[in-house]
Amino acid sequence: MQKKEIELDTFSCKKCGACAEVAPEHFEMDEDTETPRVLDPIIEGEHQDLEQAKAFCPSESIEIKVIEE
Ligand code: SF4
Repeated sequence: MQKKEIELDTFSCKKCGACAEVAPEHFEMDEDTETPRVLDPIIEGEHQDLEQAKAFCPSESIEIKVIEE
C-alpha cells in the first residue's frame, strides 16, 4: 500500500486551528504555542479528512508526499 508523509510548515502556518478541527486524527493544536503538530507523520491509504484539512489551510502549510509506492 502507498505510504505518505504529512509535512507541516509551522513557519507559514497562521495558527488558525482549522486542520485540527477538520482532521483531529492527524493534527493537534499545542495549547502553549497555539501551533499545530502532526500526530503521526507517516500514513497509509486514503484519508479524506487529511485532504480536506490541506484544502482548508489558508496558508498552504500542509503537504502530503508519497514516500513509497
Ligand atoms: S489549517 Fe494551516 S494555517 Fe491553520 S493551523 Fe493548520 S496548518 Fe496552520
